[in-house]
Amino acid sequence: MSRSDLLFQKAQNYIPGGVNSPVRAFGGVGGTPVFFNRGQGAYLIDEDEKSYIDYVGSWGTAILGHAHPEVVLAVQKAAANGLSFGAPTAKEVELAIKINQHFPSIEQVRLVNSGTEATMSALRLARAATGRDKILKFEGCYHGHSDALLVKAGSGGLTFGVPSSPGVPKVLVQETLTAIFNDLDSVEAVFQAVGKDIAAIIVEPVAGNMGCVLPVPGFLQGLREICDRYQSLLIFDEVITGFRVGRGGAQGLYGVVPDITTLGKIIGGGLPVGAFGGRKILMEKMAPVGPVYQAGTLSGNPIAVAAGLATLKVLESSPGFYADLEIKTQRLVAGLLERAKAQDIALKATQVGSLFGLFFTEGEEITQLQQVMGCHIEQFKQFFHALLQQGIYIAPSAYEAGFVSAAHGDLELQATWDAAEKAFASLKHKDVSKEVRLSN
Ligand code: PLP
Repeated sequence: MSRSDLLFQKAQNYIPGGVNSPVRAFGGVGGTPVFFNRGQGAYLIDEDEKSYIDYVGSWGTAILGHAHPEVVLAVQKAAANGLSFGAPTAKEVELAIKINQHFPSIEQVRLVNSGTEATMSALRLARAATGRDKILKFEGCYHGHSDALLVKAGSGGLTFGVPSSPGVPKVLVQETLTAIFNDLDSVEAVFQAVGKDIAAIIVEPVAGNMGCVLPVPGFLQGLREICDRYQSLLIFDEVITGFRVGRGGAQGLYGVVPDITTLGKIIGGGLPVGAFGGRKILMEKMAPVGPVYQAGTLSGNPIAVAAGLATLKVLESSPGFYADLEIKTQRLVAGLLERAKAQDIALKATQVGSLFGLFFTEGEEITQLQQVMGCHIEQFKQFFHALLQQGIYIAPSAYEAGFVSAAHGDLELQATWDAAEKAFASLKHKDVSKEVRLSN
């Protein structure tokens, strides 16, 4: 029995499901989750001293790879000066300025402790600023686990939210409407019905929680236009895409300016951080300037800020940082598609910057959740385990994106292609019965 098996057994006695966040439990792929001991660069090393090339990167956080020396040093230095004061620090101002430099739409920013807090607070601000209660989100987009955003995808243009978890009051999610990602008509239909009551649209500008689904040309621009027409606010949830698809996030890449942006992951350099920001006039509605209440004991704590700042400094000062990452990711994906094709495996891929998605399907290029849900889940599970066994760690779910870091190099790409070739070969003769996704 491996140490991961032993630890998982023990963990399940003391931690629900043995994990502190559900996808980690391998429920989507079966088997025992790997317990990791440490990470270095592009690699994770498990409790049994087996190494894995990591394409999860702490769910998109580790853009520099694990244990980057400059980030580690910054954290060590900050820790030696005290962990948390619950009072303002100079570094918070530095981080806010840096975020503003790269995201001009964020004139002011408030730091919180997670992406969930960021989106939850952004909604409160949007509701307060517009005096409206309803919000619109997209099926398959994930914005953290706050009540109002934990709404299962419905069908049709105008769908009143159904909670996707017990414990979420129905009355609360009745104000959460859903539409279809990449389908402006579905958004128009909702707005035509109740547009004047909608405080905001919240969207992942690149959907990263149904695999990786890129916005079709005109989709984000269309959302901007609809929001302007109905005087609703547009919230870009850039918790994944911020500093990932480019220094200026998806808004920089696609040239669409939201009213409020949420950030997380990379800006914390591996420590718990989130942020929401926008125009000064909007952000000044937040306490203590304005009446919208939001607070946090550990918000902007010196350690997380130090890790985030160090990360941003590295990616600012490395010439060609994003171009290199993008080329590497394009090569990775092209190499995987080539090897799948050689083995007659129907595989589609999406990619933007260092973010990618793999889909086992004979269908068209992926632009919609419905297509994602029609992919061969059994084939994904087998592929996942075949890679894992060969020391390649991709997300243990068909509905998560992949992440490449600056620490991944030719060696890692080649090892991944070699492993994938064997994995595809092992899929060829197996039953690939189609399963439809039933739940998140
Ligand atoms: N928004 C997006 C787009 C996310 O992908 C996530 C988490 O993965 C969140 C919000 C929630 O962030 P956190 O897990 O830090 O609460």
